[in-house]
Amino acid sequence: MPVIPRRTMVRMILLALLAVPLASGCERTQPVHNTRFLAFGTLVDLSIVGVSKGQADEAAREIEGDFLRLHHEWHAWEEGTLERVNRLLRKGEPFEAPEVVLPMIELGRTLATASDHLFNPAIGKLIDAWGFHKDDPDGNQPPSPEVISKLLAENPRMTDIHSDGPTLQCDNPAVKLDFGAFGKGYGINLAVARLREMGIDNAIVNAGGDLRAIGSRSGTPWRIAIRNPTGTGVLGMVAVSGDESVFTSGDYERNYTYEGKRYHHIIDPRTGYPAEGAVSVTVIHPDAAVADAAATALFIAGPDEWYELARGMCLQYVLLVDDKGIIHMNPEMEERVDLVVDSAQIKLSPPLGHFAE
Ligand code: ADP
Ligand code: MG
Repeated sequence: MPVIPRRTMVRMILLALLAVPLASGCERTQPVHNTRFLAFGTLVDLSIVGVSKGQADEAAREIEGDFLRLHHEWHAWEEGTLERVNRLLRKGEPFEAPEVVLPMIELGRTLATASDHLFNPAIGKLIDAWGFHKDDPDGNQPPSPEVISKLLAENPRMTDIHSDGPTLQCDNPAVKLDFGAFGKGYGINLAVARLREMGIDNAIVNAGGDLRAIGSRSGTPWRIAIRNPTGTGVLGMVAVSGDESVFTSGDYERNYTYEGKRYHHIIDPRTGYPAEGAVSVTVIHPDAAVADAAATALFIAGPDEWYELARGMCLQYVLLVDDKGIIHMNPEMEERVDLVVDSAQIKLSPPLGHFAE
């Protein structure tokens, strides 16, 4: 979760504007209070309805404070709690995990297992070798094939970390945690819990286009834009109400070019190289951390394997854009999304089905 290099700021502001939810219909019974701040290396937009401006401002201040603290605790390459935990994991001896990371490690292990370890937050050394543990990856160069083979052979997995209550012990010194693929989602869940504690039931917490929406806008569903991976435009719109998260992983988020080839930040743990085949994946799920991890995992699975993995992860709504511009989605997603691009080729999967509650 990097700090934003200044030169990408303009593009981010454009993306954030794009991601501001639009209300459908023209009901204006209650104003939407919008606040924007920087956290998790991205712009965070809060949209709050149904409370006074004073309450909305106070909520925004609280959440901004929480996000800044969490960003520091979970930072993968600056000194902080996660860095300390990584040192202790490497040692292999039992230690008591700080409260702020323990539930994330447990959830990370569950989601890693559910995704067949395509989502693998234990591969921090690999992410580092690719040069994505710095604020601005420009000027990096890819690791050599030898370095990649060595890191793959070490096979770090979340299941190498064993827990007994708050006590953790790791069997594999190659494990290095990087929460980049689900930290934002996890933080958004905490923010929503905080809003609810403050009596706010209608809101969107949007971090750089990834968001969780609760309640509605004066009874009207929130309308969320899904970004077009080929540029700064919109691919489609989706209506969300109740409690749902919409997360997109894309190869455009963080990357660098070396000798004319572009390398992005989503690494396939099977090959050790940036995942190929997809350019973006959007997942809708009630839980923001699951949506975040799942979008990353399905991106790695790519156009040929996403469907099986989505079934395995009990997902209900997935849209994947492949590197030929073909939009892959399940019929349940197709029913919900209003595509605004013409002439896109669409490939529908079989239904993902509904799952027993
Ligand atoms: P973004 O944060 O840009 O929305 P993702 O949620 O897909 O994108 O997370 C990408 C980040 O996750 C990378 O920058 C890296 O820190 C980490 N990461 C990369 N590959 C993996 C992987 N296979 N499993 C878990 N984390 C990963
Ligand atoms: Mg993710």
